[in-house]
Amino acid sequence: MKARGCATTAESLANGLRCIDCAAEYPLAYRLECEKCHGLLELIYDLDTLGRRGREVFRNPGLWRYAPVLPITRPEHRVTLGEGQTPLLDCPRLAKFLGVKRLLLKFDGTNPTGTVKDRSSATAIAAALQFGFQATSVVSTGNAASSIAAYSARAGLRSLIFVYERASAPKMLHIGATATDLIIYQGVYDDLIGHWDRLTEEQLFFDCGASRNAYKQEGKKTLAYEIWEQNGFRAPDVVVAPVAVGEIFISMFRGFRELARVGWIEKVPLMVAAQATRSNPVSQAFRDGGPLVPIKIGYTVAEGLATGDPGKKGEWVLRTLREERGLAADAEDEEIVEAQKVLTRTEGIWAGPTGVATLAVLGRLLATKKVDPAQTICVIVSETGLKTEAEVPARQGTAFDYASLRALVLSRLTP
Ligand SMILES: *Cc1c(COP(=O)(O)O)cnc(C)c1O
Ligand SMILES: [Zn+2]
Repeated sequence: MKARGCATTAESLANGLRCIDCAAEYPLAYRLECEKCHGLLELIYDLDTLGRRGREVFRNPGLWRYAPVLPITRPEHRVTLGEGQTPLLDCPRLAKFLGVKRLLLKFDGTNPTGTVKDRSSATAIAAALQFGFQATSVVSTGNAASSIAAYSARAGLRSLIFVYERASAPKMLHIGATATDLIIYQGVYDDLIGHWDRLTEEQLFFDCGASRNAYKQEGKKTLAYEIWEQNGFRAPDVVVAPVAVGEIFISMFRGFRELARVGWIEKVPLMVAAQATRSNPVSQAFRDGGPLVPIKIGYTVAEGLATGDPGKKGEWVLRTLREERGLAADAEDEEIVEAQKVLTRTEGIWAGPTGVATLAVLGRLLATKKVDPAQTICVIVSETGLKTEAEVPARQGTAFDYASLRALVLSRLTP
């Protein structure tokens, strides 16, 4: 069925799923892995038609502007809360501070629930509708939980949300108010996800997890298309993306690769995978040159990056890094908290620790001369700071009369 009005421009050009290991192809159905080798699946598109139709096909506002390169066929399934088209900010003061020529910051904290997760939730919940599911579920450290709960509510679906016991209070409040069923789990993400992934086989709910679902991941691909479009139809030289399970990294890389195949960019940017040192299995494997080894992790301020066992998607990130000559690195919690302060002081952007891990990692890569400061560097800042829980500095207030108020203002603002 075609959309009324803009039938050709908003038509999805997805034409199947392909195994990333053995290249077996499947029709556009709800399938989480390859039947032959259990490999992960990725969506494939009719890129020739995309090239022929030209970039004018990208017309709608928000995330569904890129409907032609998303896997949702019917417009009535394209659920939205106004996600996407987040600002790409030129950051001259921060660039100067870091000693780089041109720094672009893609700030995804302006999404409806304050994080990049809304991109993948939009396509996940749309796919749940497309494949006729009544309920959704996810295991999350917090951000995916609030986002999936919100998009499920928006679509009228039941949501069974499993959330990390140490998730911040603002996240907990938000999820508690939004989810139809909220379950708090003990331990870390890695302790539960294996069991939960097994349960997805029974199809009692639509899989909104990050481990396998190609439809969910696809929404994050729009980051690449947006950056390209907002940067005057050019790709930056370097893109620094956060990695927990690896959906953002993989889908952005795929987006840039599609743009390169159609001939709309010359080459895919150098992709940097950024992790927190306390949760760095991909960065470690990259450094050691060996296979990905799951690690036991504890708490990191970058809550959204707390994944010690990213599974097959982590391996996919590593493979992409090696085959495409990307980079991976990590930053300590202290550096992440410092990056948060520097960002808000230099540019007025208040982002959460998970969101600024990329910036802390860029600082490290510049210090070790692994990234060329003369290039155009784009950093993904993936969440707002308003969901962070932290101790507030002293709350002791001062009482004023006119004279004391005037004296204070003069003492502060007289040069
Ligand atoms: C989940 C999350 C990430 C990590 O994304 P992956 O796709 O799992 O690698 C990064 N930033 C924020 C804010 C997140 O919530
Ligand atoms: Zn296969």
